[in-house]
Amino acid sequence: MSLDYSWQELENAIRNCTRCQLYRNRKNAVPGEGPKDAFVMFIGEAPGATEDEMGRPFVGAAGKLLTMIMENLGISRDSVYITNVVKCRPPNNREPSDEEIEKCGIYLETQIRLIKPKIIVTLGNIAGKTIFFMGKERWEGIMKMRGRVYNMKIFDLTVYVIPTIHPAAGLYNPNLKNLLIQDLKIVKECIDKMSTNPQDMTAKPKTLLSYMKK
Ligand code: SF4
Repeated sequence: MSLDYSWQELENAIRNCTRCQLYRNRKNAVPGEGPKDAFVMFIGEAPGATEDEMGRPFVGAAGKLLTMIMENLGISRDSVYITNVVKCRPPNNREPSDEEIEKCGIYLETQIRLIKPKIIVTLGNIAGKTIFFMGKERWEGIMKMRGRVYNMKIFDLTVYVIPTIHPAAGLYNPNLKNLLIQDLKIVKECIDKMSTNPQDMTAKPKTLLSYMKK
């Protein structure tokens, strides 16, 4: 179910939301930021302490790592829309519960319907699982699913979904950081190929076929 809201109404609803218990401890809800007609959406798990403080997504240490890798690969952070599965910080950065994800899903679904992205990049297991659930596709865990391009229907949209690990996992683990870089290279390649023909989602770029599922 999505909301028949304008962007302003949607962001106000998120900032004042009490649909799940996470509103009790938040300083700021974090709706997301970026162009409202972005070609690419990045979706993480939940705001952390810095994001909760500032009301902006991916502005803490993990967000800075993500932004640095993106910019090094030529993906401008300003060109993508970045948000999370849940919009309020879970206490002690625990994983959001299924109930919290379900209650908050109405906002993510509305954002996806409004933005109509061509590519969705999921960051971490929770984000991947949530988007695959929306696409009615089977999710088999982040380490099995990451690093590939999946062509799927989410609501009435045909999108490429590219799961990767959460940048927080790459902060202190060079191996995971390298996996994140590898996966974001695939994102860049996908953006470049799709940019040449953004309307035609049936035209699968030849070089993507080697790691494309479905
Ligand atoms: S996490 Fe989502 S559903 Fe829960 S209070 Fe925040 S905005 Fe509302």
